[in-house]
Amino acid sequence: MNTLAFEIVPSPSSNDFEARIRIDGADWLGREYLGLDPERLFAQPALTSGGRLVVGRCECGCEGCDDVVVDVLRRDQEVLWTNSRGLRLEFDLAEYDGVVTSARRNTFWEDAKRTAERWVSEAFAEIRLSDGWLFDWASTRSRDGKMTLSFSKNGAQKLLDYPWDGKSPQDALTAAMRLLKDLSEPSHPSNVTSDAKSQV
Ligand SMILES: [Zn+2]
Repeated sequence: MNTLAFEIVPSPSSNDFEARIRIDGADWLGREYLGLDPERLFAQPALTSGGRLVVGRCECGCEGCDDVVVDVLRRDQEVLWTNSRGLRLEFDLAEYDGVVTSARRNTFWEDAKRTAERWVSEAFAEIRLSDGWLFDWASTRSRDGKMTLSFSKNGAQKLLDYPWDGKSPQDALTAAMRLLKDLSEPSHPSNVTSDAKSQV
């Protein structure tokens, strides 16, 4: 049996974080690959349900460029990671599920920006504005000194942003809730800038 662990470290070159994969205590991705941003890695259902799982990305930081992919197979007592080049890693099922569950819950790696993004995303999940725009994501990494919120409607994208100093996630959340209140009261003046563009 093998053991699996994740080590989450900042990835300045891709302006996010990477989840390094550790197998039997040793780094497994190798120097030429970055781990996925933890949010991207742990959002994949295949990690626990089985199927095609992306576990690493090209050193340029892009996904889809030169991914490291494994096939995840669940059995009665074990989880297998295989690939077409003969890889075979075997994990104890209960231990594997425990490692993944705690990794998915772990937010210790986050900096203030990532915590702010998560809090605002949780607060805005499923939010649809009165004019039909549905919330997609919140990012502090699109524009310096700003929190950007993306909404979509019929294939179009609308971006709203507001200033945030990058320090207090609570301030970012409070400002987001104020913005939401402003947006649901159209007569209320707002100093929010917006732009809209078609998504390709
Ligand atoms: Zn690349």
